[in-house]
Amino acid sequence: MKKGLNKGQTAVLILMLSIIVFQGIYLFRTSKETSSLQESSAANGEIQKSRKILREITQFNLGDFPFLPKRVNPEKKLIAFSFDDGPSRKNTEKILKALDKNNARATFFMLGQNAKYYPDLVKKVEESGNEVAGHSWNHPLLTKLGKKGVKKQMSRMNEAIASVTGSDVGLLRPPYGSINRTVKNTVKDPLILWSIDTLDWKTLNADKTADAILKQARDGDIILMHDIHAPTAEAVKKVLPKLEKKGFQVCTVSELLEARNITLHPGDVVVSANDVYRYKK
Ligand SMILES: [Zn+2]
Repeated sequence: MKKGLNKGQTAVLILMLSIIVFQGIYLFRTSKETSSLQESSAANGEIQKSRKILREITQFNLGDFPFLPKRVNPEKKLIAFSFDDGPSRKNTEKILKALDKNNARATFFMLGQNAKYYPDLVKKVEESGNEVAGHSWNHPLLTKLGKKGVKKQMSRMNEAIASVTGSDVGLLRPPYGSINRTVKNTVKDPLILWSIDTLDWKTLNADKTADAILKQARDGDIILMHDIHAPTAEAVKKVLPKLEKKGFQVCTVSELLEARNITLHPGDVVVSANDVYRYKK
């Protein structure tokens, strides 16, 4: 009898052992891969879960800012709503909600000092697809200030607003609608007046403000209101459905002008889409 293994047997044994070892390694690795697959499907589950949470959060956020930009139909009658002297903690959000509910938008000519006080409201106006515009820093008669004073009003106002929106305003409504050559030469924005004065600040009466709009509104008008008065917010709620029934779309000043192919330059003065005064040096 031969003791031990001959060379051939040894080779076969080594081969078998190696097969076993490699199989072991293979199985071990496969099982690791399987478990990591399981891990990643667990991760997918987590992702799905967080997607669900994300959706809920997004819905929540959309609920908070439910006002997404919409488009105007330039074929239909258009009027621009504008609100001066805000933003106001008590009224601006009410107006934003009423606008959104009625598929309408507006331009908010803000005072820099209020924008600085309520940056969250500036952001809401912007994020809701409405237009953030300027109304000076603190409502002086710009025509009394001279070049330096006008510049200072504009720069302080733009600083407060741009710190929220990332850019200077594109439109200015001069306080009291007061304009002279110095204002036109100094301000780098077109100057936006109005064609319908609701006198909301004077009557402080929602029905009177709504009636002023309903009786006078024509295609291309710019309506003046103030978002610092509670009756004005009520007037907006009342008047929007009625304007819609009359076939009006309510939009921002920029949307109105764009729909009517009006391009503006610094110093131009706009009363309505039908009444634009070009700047002459
Ligand atoms: Zn004002």
